[in-house]
Amino acid sequence: MMFKPVMTLCAGVCAAMVAGCARSQGPDDGTRYSFALQDGFQRLSGELSFSGDADGASQIRLPGAWGPEAGLDGQFSDFRVSVAGGRFEPVLVIDGVIHLEHAASAPLVLRYEFSQDYEGLPQWGVQRVPGLRPVTQPDFAVFVGAAAFPHPVWSDDRTPSYSVSFSQDGLPVSARSSLGDGSRLDTGPIPASRFLDTLWILGGFDQASRVVNAVNIRTALRGDLPLAPDEIQTQSEHMIAGAADLFRDTPFETYLIVAMPLPPLPDQSAVIGTAFHQTFMLLTTANAPAEEIRHTVSHEVLHEWITGRMGPTDTDTDPSRMWFTEGFTEYFTLLVRLRVGDLDLDGFLAAINALEAHYQASSVRTMTRMELIDHVWDSRETERLPYQRGALLAFLADGRAAAGGSDRLADVLAGLIDEA
Ligand SMILES: [Zn+2]
Repeated sequence: MMFKPVMTLCAGVCAAMVAGCARSQGPDDGTRYSFALQDGFQRLSGELSFSGDADGASQIRLPGAWGPEAGLDGQFSDFRVSVAGGRFEPVLVIDGVIHLEHAASAPLVLRYEFSQDYEGLPQWGVQRVPGLRPVTQPDFAVFVGAAAFPHPVWSDDRTPSYSVSFSQDGLPVSARSSLGDGSRLDTGPIPASRFLDTLWILGGFDQASRVVNAVNIRTALRGDLPLAPDEIQTQSEHMIAGAADLFRDTPFETYLIVAMPLPPLPDQSAVIGTAFHQTFMLLTTANAPAEEIRHTVSHEVLHEWITGRMGPTDTDTDPSRMWFTEGFTEYFTLLVRLRVGDLDLDGFLAAINALEAHYQASSVRTMTRMELIDHVWDSRETERLPYQRGALLAFLADGRAAAGGSDRLADVLAGLIDEA
């Protein structure tokens, strides 16, 4: 799966992000979050500061649904607001939105409490995908920005900068995210969608960093993983370099790879990947085959280019594009793995043949494209169908292009990425 401008279940879940358009540059007083941690990492007292709209009416939106998880507003409590330096007063949340009226461009401060809204560690049957709903525990916390940050929605033209800081008992606490490492992280002016498309790591993760070919791969790994940390890091490095080469593109300077365990399943294993901006998350049961981890890491990295580098997409219509966003990603994952020597030709063809065999055996194989758009999440077979169709279509088209001497599929995609 990947969660990017697409929320798809990659082998479970592919993450999706909020598609947002950058506004033209306007006033930027910055949007500042500061969090005081309580009871280890179990509760965060948050403070959000920003300047209100010039028209005297502002809105703060709470996370409601993100990816596979819904009802996220239940994680928040004790909302209080100070307008223009005045006293903090309780405020109502109406349909997930706090409405504020104030003098033009008045400074606004929202205080609130935030914590996970379930008992204990993530579990199957409690969250749709254990680990994607925010986790706040005694020894660690991990959350997706879009699932955890109440955020202002402006009517005026504004692309603010953001600042996020964490502390405990007045002392700074370091966090790791796609925005950087440290107890205080500052961005330049960026769209809200970019700010929210992040993962935040606090506390008990094994963290490492390695710079290869001027790309800094940072990892945050936790628990019993079926692939060694060094192999996860190396696989990511190879795939980033291989995909950048294939699509004639320059990678970002830094990426974050996060992996943590899924709770065990009776008699089976599960691996779920999710892609965010410059960030890839892997959730896996301890008994998953190492090859599946290798493939899922590779697939998530490929989402950086399909469709991350192609611009924002509309999450509501994702299922109609999964043949491309997932199917083509799956084909190019295999192709790049072949090019970097991670698969030999026999291994590549075996993987294509396996896709074809699963497709032929699929009980939903004859579903029309329109039917599938409405029913893609109905079952594991419907979820997999766009992967199978898209990957086989890409294999066929690329093979014909190669045989006919015309541009290969990667060249066509490189053109799309260039345009974006
Ligand atoms: Zn995917």
